[in-house]
Amino acid sequence: MIEIPRQKPKFRFAPSPNGTLHLGHALSAILNHDMAAEAGGDFLLRIEDIDQARCTPDFEEGIYRDLSWLGLSWQQPARRQSEHFPAYQQALQTLIARGLVYPAFLTRGEVKSRVAAFEADGKSWPRDPDGTPLYPMDDRERSDAERQGLLASGMKHAWRLDMERALAAADQPLHWQESGDGETGTIPADPAAWGDVVLSRSDAPSSYHLSVVVDDAVQGITHVVRGLDLFHATSIHRLLQTLLGLPEPLYHHHRLVLGEDGKKLSKSMGDTGIAEWRRRGLSPAELRRRIGL
Ligand code: GLU
Repeated sequence: MIEIPRQKPKFRFAPSPNGTLHLGHALSAILNHDMAAEAGGDFLLRIEDIDQARCTPDFEEGIYRDLSWLGLSWQQPARRQSEHFPAYQQALQTLIARGLVYPAFLTRGEVKSRVAAFEADGKSWPRDPDGTPLYPMDDRERSDAERQGLLASGMKHAWRLDMERALAAADQPLHWQESGDGETGTIPADPAAWGDVVLSRSDAPSSYHLSVVVDDAVQGITHVVRGLDLFHATSIHRLLQTLLGLPEPLYHHHRLVLGEDGKKLSKSMGDTGIAEWRRRGLSPAELRRRIGL
């Protein structure tokens, strides 16, 4: 009998070096590491540094230091997104060529004042699952000639997915397999809830959503283990994977570590950083207990 080789399980921890790692990151990194070990697979590290204005080499060094202190080792080298902009641009070009993406010229401030004016009479503007107002339709409805004119004039723009066309172009129904701490099983994807998401920013040649699906595919990631705060974003990732013909990983969205005030931890709260706990003399084993492991 011919033996079909099983795909080697691959897990990844994918922090952004725009702050210090907190206890929620520790939980995510340890879970990925331990689940990879249990599955006889690989644990990869990806540095999500497309936002060159907010990411710094110091924060990146901090990530390596904190993970090493936790006793985790990862397959070398780590993948740094800032070194792979051409790969994301290539994926974007594929979608542009299929007419699924359009240049979006409204600034954040313009969108904000549009929403505020609309809501001034008590109406409410539709929002995405993170609470951000959906992007207005103006740019989607521009003619090709108008778009070309604006692009040629050098006007700053992002590239956004035309959600309606994208949904029409993708095989339906879209779903994913989930084994995390929230809803589990086959989860129906609802990308429409996000509206016309940004795939390439005006200040960076990619976006989180585009680079995460390209990298998970390029790195052969079979299991995506990350916080429940990214549960709904998986809908966008499944849509992009389908449009770009990329494989579908399994998903596991784990519980979040909350601060003493019961709120989600944030990188700006230095007091909950792994480095701060280390300075206070906590051992890696005590830190594991603190986050319920
Ligand atoms: N870079 C993202 C973050 O720091 C995580 C991305 C992911 O795991 O898909 O929140």
